[in-house]
Amino acid sequence: GWRSRAAFKLIEIDDRFKLIGEGTRIIDLGAAPGGWTQVAVKRGAKHVVGLDLLPVDPVAGAEIIEGDFTDPEMPDRLKDMLGGPADLVMSDMAPNTTGHAATDHMRIMGLAEGALDFAFQVLAEGGSFIAKVFQGGSEKDMLALMKTAFSSVKHVKPPASRKESSELYVIATGFRPERLLESS
Ligand code: SAM
Repeated sequence: GWRSRAAFKLIEIDDRFKLIGEGTRIIDLGAAPGGWTQVAVKRGAKHVVGLDLLPVDPVAGAEIIEGDFTDPEMPDRLKDMLGGPADLVMSDMAPNTTGHAATDHMRIMGLAEGALDFAFQVLAEGGSFIAKVFQGGSEKDMLALMKTAFSSVKHVKPPASRKESSELYVIATGFRPERLLESS
């Protein structure tokens, strides 16, 4: 069985966008308790590397380490573990909620922006990015950056995501690293 309800969200996202296949190299940010990692392995990903602040029980076919994704050495470390750049960076990261909506919103968007910056450092050309965002979708600056750096950017609310929860996922595909250089 799946270790998390969240697993169903990734299944629904991937049924629609087909981002995980045989040969796909994946980095899973905020992997605990391991549901998304299980889905990635099950769908035939070639190599899956996960990271979380919390310890995660081993998932056969994947490597998960304990740590903070904002640690400056993390992009290179995970890329080394993967044996090269990633085809997909997926982040289901969420902060500990405070119950104060504006603070929670700000924190989740901070994680999503951090995950995007991380993705820029590890993604292969043509690669994809999935991240949990909030209500109205990505913030303006983040959205503009994604539209520059990827050929397609969409927001989805997977059916498995509770209706009363304000989470959404952003799905960006077709990474174009040269566009980032041109715009900087
Ligand atoms: N996708 C997972 C699954 O299917 O099992 C569930 C992920 S859970 C909703 C969010 C995770 O993000 C938490 O385990 C949390 O520890 C992790 N997280 C939050 N901030 C993080 C950070 N700075 N670095 C690494 N992981 C982080």
